[in-house]
Amino acid sequence: MAELRLVGARKSFGPVDVLHGIDLAVQDGEFVVFVGPSGCGKSTLLRVIAGLETVTEGEVYIDGQRVTDRPASERDLAMVFQSYALYPHMSVRKNMAFALENMGLKSAEIDARVTRAATMLRLTDYLERRPKALSGGQRQRVAIGRAIVRDPKIFLFDEPLSNLDAELRVATRKELAALHAEIGGTMIYVTHDQVEAMTLADRIVVLRAGRIEQVGSPLELYNSPCNTFVAGFIGSPR
Ligand code: ADP
Ligand code: MG
Repeated sequence: MAELRLVGARKSFGPVDVLHGIDLAVQDGEFVVFVGPSGCGKSTLLRVIAGLETVTEGEVYIDGQRVTDRPASERDLAMVFQSYALYPHMSVRKNMAFALENMGLKSAEIDARVTRAATMLRLTDYLERRPKALSGGQRQRVAIGRAIVRDPKIFLFDEPLSNLDAELRVATRKELAALHAEIGGTMIYVTHDQVEAMTLADRIVVLRAGRIEQVGSPLELYNSPCNTFVAGFIGSPR
């Protein structure tokens, strides 16, 4: 069974059609990357999956359950944004623990999850600091940690590395790949960076003006782009 399935997902804002009917199935544990030019609907698609926007038409299924009308809080997923959106007045530890406290988990379980995520993300020395005392890369790792501790079925990332400088972007990208290997969740990742897409993805979904242009493994898209748009995006010399 597909972990996530979109059937004819359309989204309009007033008279503007942003998504034109997206059909997509993502398998359990798959790392799927959405690419496409600015304004093509990548973030909207992610928000529709997250339940932060409702579809105008079509259906969304998670783990076989229809969640089309369910809010984000009732979907088993966690989203990491480009702007870290950390709570400035809380320590790193509290930023990670906060949602778990609201979920009603016992404090021993919360501590264990925070410790595990902090170790994975090399944040153990920074747990008592406030976000403003961290570097950009560390802040983004806290944002990722906040998603990990919730142990969701699906992780959604919206250009999580685009505010980092080039060196940190490469390092954090490698951490994300290692993280996926370690925890094995289903990852849906938006980027406009071809290198990120090619190195992280099991499958790449190329979007253009609210439609799926092509879906395939990085190698398939590289070797057999369906048109010059995809070729231009993936960087193959067709
Ligand atoms: P991307 O993430 O690929 O850059 P977005 O999903 O952010 O694209 O936006 C796709 C289109 O939808 C853009 O034209 C954008 O202006 C429009 N859009 C996104 N959100 C809204 C909104 N809340 N209201 C109106 N238009 C929106
Ligand atoms: Mg976007």
